[in-house]
Amino acid sequence: MVVPKTKKVSDLLKEEILENEEKREYTSDKFKKIEDKVKDSLKKQKTDDALNDITIWALVLGSSDIHYDTFEDYVVVRYRIDWVLVDIFRLTHKEYKPVLERLKYSSSLKLNITNIPQDWKYDLTIDDRKIDVRVSTLPVWDYENVVCRILDNSNAIIDFDKLWFFWTTKRMLEKAISKRNWMILVTWPTGSGKTTTLYTILAKLNTRDKKIITLEDPIEYRLDWIIQSEVDEKQWFTFKTWLRALLRQDPDIIMVWEIRDKETLETATQASLTWHLVLSTLHTKSAAETLDRIVNMWLKPYVLASALDTIIAQRLVRRICPHCKVEKEKSQLDISIIANMMKEIGMSSVLTKHIKLYEGKWCPKCNNSWYQWRIWIYEIISLNEDLRDLIREWATSDEIIRKARDWDLITMKEDGILKAIKWFTTIEEILRVI
Ligand SMILES: [Zn+2]
Repeated sequence: MVVPKTKKVSDLLKEEILENEEKREYTSDKFKKIEDKVKDSLKKQKTDDALNDITIWALVLGSSDIHYDTFEDYVVVRYRIDWVLVDIFRLTHKEYKPVLERLKYSSSLKLNITNIPQDWKYDLTIDDRKIDVRVSTLPVWDYENVVCRILDNSNAIIDFDKLWFFWTTKRMLEKAISKRNWMILVTWPTGSGKTTTLYTILAKLNTRDKKIITLEDPIEYRLDWIIQSEVDEKQWFTFKTWLRALLRQDPDIIMVWEIRDKETLETATQASLTWHLVLSTLHTKSAAETLDRIVNMWLKPYVLASALDTIIAQRLVRRICPHCKVEKEKSQLDISIIANMMKEIGMSSVLTKHIKLYEGKWCPKCNNSWYQWRIWIYEIISLNEDLRDLIREWATSDEIIRKARDWDLITMKEDGILKAIKWFTTIEEILRVI
């Protein structure tokens, strides 16, 4: 394929990928099996079994959410598997009614309330694993739509070495979390797996000689030897007042679930300036956007420069299914993308033609989706004195990022392409999410 000069290579490939994505369908004979089992239980009026089956199968297939989407004639049970919403089977409204009631009953929601949204959770234990399922209802026309988020404790904390850091980024992060104070921000667009990253870092920091307190909304997982508090903003408490109370508990390390406003940012910054290691998150897409957002929240650049240590921007991408992985023939576009990146990161001597790329084929293990599970890609900026000086001088985030490039900053896209070269994911997947 000849690349027209007017469009960027990556944009062209992205267009092509999105087009193909729409045409691809997840299919599996397991879906029929789930449907038969659930409907059989419903016929026998064993609603509890039906709900258990739906939840257990969602876990088996690696889903993050279960959707009960109601339409005029039927309800579709769908799983979100590696981001993609997959139709599993349909229920009639008559079949859905007892499932909905069971869901609401198990989650301590009020059965008679159908005209306002409600949310709480139910749990179930599978092979000694306790799984929490957070249920949210939404009234739609004459029905109630339900979405269940699966909170699987066994996936919440993983080994620090399994967070998919390259050794350079891992070293940066290890250095950052070994410090006594400063602030570390994990930034995230929705569904980027920040919970796992944060909890895994906390678990690594969790030694008996340090006191760790968290401020969460809500507490998703229980962690041993970490004092976890949950803000209830319906009361008069706000993140800011709660955070101040928390600081009087003499912690060494604080995890603030999310910086949402100027006051929380200021209090968290103050905490880091008074010898606490502060971990928090911000809803942004990249390291540059994070710097802009903080300054837009009116935090003075010289304060930012003195408080912030590291920004970890991250995104989840799908991992190639290891069961049907085959070498792919590199397209002209693949070659241009890799060659450009190698030049950017100063590795032009690596010959693109020697680099192999892989892709998934169809197989039952990945439900014919080519991918199985997900991996993280990162962009980590560790501020050094040069970068702090730039921040103090009101440099733009672009100027700061450009300077950080001199200090080995790998952009998120490059981290992803390097992971494609390592055969963990595909270039198509990286371009799809970035
Ligand atoms: Zn496969």
